[in-house]
Amino acid sequence: MDKQWQLETQAIQGGYEPRNGEPRILPIVQSTTFKYESADFMAKLFDLEAPGHFYTRLSNPTSEGFEKKISLMEGGVGALATSSGQAATTLAVLNICQAGQHLIAASTLYGGTFSLFANTLPKMGIEVTFVAPDASAAEIKGKFRPTTRAIFTETIGNPGLNVLDFAKWSAVAREMQVPLIVDNTFPTPCLCRPFEHGANIVVHSATKYIDGHATSVGGVIVDGGNFDWSNGRFPELTEPDASYHGLQYHQTFGNLAYIVKARVQLMRDLGTCPSPFNAFLFNLGMETLPLRIQRHSDNALQLARFLEQHPLVSWVSYPGLPSHPSHALAQKYLPKGASGVLTFGIKGGGAAGKKFMESCRLVALVVHVGDARSCVLHPASTTHRQLSEEQQRASGVTADLIRLSVGIEHIDDIIRDVDQALATSQG
Ligand code: PLP
Repeated sequence: MDKQWQLETQAIQGGYEPRNGEPRILPIVQSTTFKYESADFMAKLFDLEAPGHFYTRLSNPTSEGFEKKISLMEGGVGALATSSGQAATTLAVLNICQAGQHLIAASTLYGGTFSLFANTLPKMGIEVTFVAPDASAAEIKGKFRPTTRAIFTETIGNPGLNVLDFAKWSAVAREMQVPLIVDNTFPTPCLCRPFEHGANIVVHSATKYIDGHATSVGGVIVDGGNFDWSNGRFPELTEPDASYHGLQYHQTFGNLAYIVKARVQLMRDLGTCPSPFNAFLFNLGMETLPLRIQRHSDNALQLARFLEQHPLVSWVSYPGLPSHPSHALAQKYLPKGASGVLTFGIKGGGAAGKKFMESCRLVALVVHVGDARSCVLHPASTTHRQLSEEQQRASGVTADLIRLSVGIEHIDDIIRDVDQALATSQG
């Protein structure tokens, strides 16, 4: 595969190279298992001494096509597709963090990730300290413990829409010798490539822009191959793995150690794999991702500008607007666009917000972002409902906040619909 390809070409041609007479399009290999003629060869597969698929929980040709494409586009060394974005985050953390250990996370996370870190990981003995994204480097370092194994952040916080200060967070991670894990769901590699800014691991909810058509739930972990796992802090990657008859991941697989371990140990044991059909849809979605994400970004910026001057709107948050606190960071890290999600406050508070959402005709009230179709949601009563008021505030969620995922319909139709729903909201 040509490493010189531009992102748009990688999105279409990357990840799958048919040989003579093979299908032009990445096929859906809807098979749980794969036939072999030699028991000795199969033993080699199990010992990871020969490449090949043997059971779809561990790997599958369709998932592999998707994994290779996203890895190429992110500039990583390998990827592991998962059954959901939540599974990707869970595996990304558990791969290097166990009971008695600790994680630092930005406080402005997607509600599901926040719940995982605040409630479920602690039940498994992993403690998470949340830090405001604008905390100083010294403050972040002050939260470190001898047991801290990673930093977890989002490129664009959901729904705070704060843009990650990669320079600050990656410098802290480097100095403290832990990997920086970044959820890159909102920008996708088309708008931001976190490995170029010091991240070490990227996770995605493929459910969002990668699919792009609201058909499938899925996720993916991408390994930047740029972290030194032999620094003495990660024995699970350098010491023999008793569950894999003494395999030493770092010594055997070099800069693929992290992603190989995630697959052969954690995916083997936890089983959160995608279906081949969903992997096919993610791969298909990625073919048009560069086109779609640009249109999402352009539409969102136009709608944000419209809302900013609307008399019934009290505030608008979109990193592409000069008024946004993250605007300078957006210009630095998201020069092509700030993706398709914006939030705003409506005059009349919660009641007007409810009326607004129910009055939209083209924009649909659904729990989703990143769909080709525009959609709207009230996070405080839905995605972030299980958080306390204080946790909601730390995540950037307020009672009057309405989140709009701007689709790729014609911008005039989106603005007309939002305008009429705003007018109706005050009645
Ligand atoms: N990360 C972000 C930024 C998200 O917005 C979401 C879901 O909304 C997730 C992760 C979780 O992904 P999934 O719903 O695919 O499990």
